[in-house]
Amino acid sequence: MSNESWDYTVFWNETMSQIRNELSDQEYTMWFNRMEYAGASETEIIIRVPSSFYRDQVKQRYLAMIEEKLLELSGTHLKLDFTISKMVSDDQKTPRRHTPNATGSDGAPLPRQKKGSHQNLKDEYTFDNFVIGTNNSFAANAAMAIAKNPGTGYNPCLIYGGVGLGKTHLIQSIGNQVFQEFDNLKIVYVTMESFTNEFIQSIREKKTHLFKNKYRYADVLLIDDIHFLQKKTETQEELFHTFNALYDANKQMVFTCDRPVSELKELTDRLRSRFERGLNVDLQPPSFETRYAILKKKIERAKLDIPEAVIELVCNNVTTNVRDLEAALTKLIAYADLVNKNITLEIAQQQLKDFFSSPKQNNVTMDIIQRVVADYFNLSANDLKGKKRTKVIAFPRQLAMYVTREITEFSTTEVGLEFGGRDHTTVMHAYQRIENRMRTDPTLDPTVQFLIRTIKEQSTKN
Ligand code: ADP
Ligand code: MG
Repeated sequence: MSNESWDYTVFWNETMSQIRNELSDQEYTMWFNRMEYAGASETEIIIRVPSSFYRDQVKQRYLAMIEEKLLELSGTHLKLDFTISKMVSDDQKTPRRHTPNATGSDGAPLPRQKKGSHQNLKDEYTFDNFVIGTNNSFAANAAMAIAKNPGTGYNPCLIYGGVGLGKTHLIQSIGNQVFQEFDNLKIVYVTMESFTNEFIQSIREKKTHLFKNKYRYADVLLIDDIHFLQKKTETQEELFHTFNALYDANKQMVFTCDRPVSELKELTDRLRSRFERGLNVDLQPPSFETRYAILKKKIERAKLDIPEAVIELVCNNVTTNVRDLEAALTKLIAYADLVNKNITLEIAQQQLKDFFSSPKQNNVTMDIIQRVVADYFNLSANDLKGKKRTKVIAFPRQLAMYVTREITEFSTTEVGLEFGGRDHTTVMHAYQRIENRMRTDPTLDPTVQFLIRTIKEQSTKN
């Protein structure tokens, strides 16, 4: 957390609005309308004021009051430092779109025209850079609608899909667009992992009030990869309260997850139902056309010259997700750069060999699992799907279910269906049985590992 820059705008704004309630309009206008938040360090807030006279008056009359309120709200002693310069609001009647970074108290002029970037968002993650195809159009359109009117329609929104399909790109695009288009909206983007770590740290350092304030004052809260929440009961509890506070205040929330929420195994029901309350949209792997459009766009942006045949080769062979697609392109470019050669079809074929044949879990199907496990026990796949419950069949069947749960993302319901229409509780039971047996039977683990290896090999052949 150490390299985080400090943003106390929420506390400042809240302090100002409390003071406004306590003072007469005239007094407030006279002194507070001429103060502007100009940045912060860990322990200081820098306020821009128009003159030294003004600064001295404010210090004398209001400093104690302001600092006390800031302490109350933030839980830390925040000192005020003043910088004297012409007010930004003197040339711009509308509030600035964002708070410029601190320049210290030397009063150096701050850049005016450029809006800059949000500190936690990547600049490239914009809707402009996102190629829309049939696989992602629902999610992309929902995200754009949210960015136009945060907090009004699709709230909360949950975007789910496998790795490398654009979840982070989309959720950050929302943040970037809101940041550009709206004045004074506090956008908080965080991964579930950082949220969890921050929360734990705040408990350890007895600063949970700071943690709560950071999240509960957000206007737009974007949390990436909520699957990380599984098993983290205290963080779930905290997020539940954050969720309720923001929901009641009509603040926009967007989450991403690597699977539908219904398939998160270790999540409290009340939190699950919160996630499912708004709009849930999915991202599917891109079709050939979309892969092609994405590569074309990246090639154009980078001003590269890559033969059509190579582009098609990549699109035909890297089918899993956009991240792999980008990685293949990056590898080609790096190679061409290093050996100073143009990228030909031969070079591409040779360089991307590993890529094309790298094991891809996504290709693991239940058919393959059933075939491999059945072969191992000299049975047929139909035996595993059939009704017979003799020992020679029941054990391999349970093992196959166990392996399926281990290496795929299929739900117990889906697994049950593929194993002769069995109930999902049967699958859960099978999993438990094998897990228990592995504890007592040391020969079982190597068998399971062997089966998994074989399944993965078989899955990449076709
Ligand atoms: P996820 O968060 O789902 O794992 P990311 O958002 O990190 O995936 O996407 C992986 C990479 O692919 C990123 O560099 C992202 O910009 C790119 N990407 C994903 N989808 C698209 C798309 N539709 N158009 C352009 N680039 C995309
Ligand atoms: Mg991501």
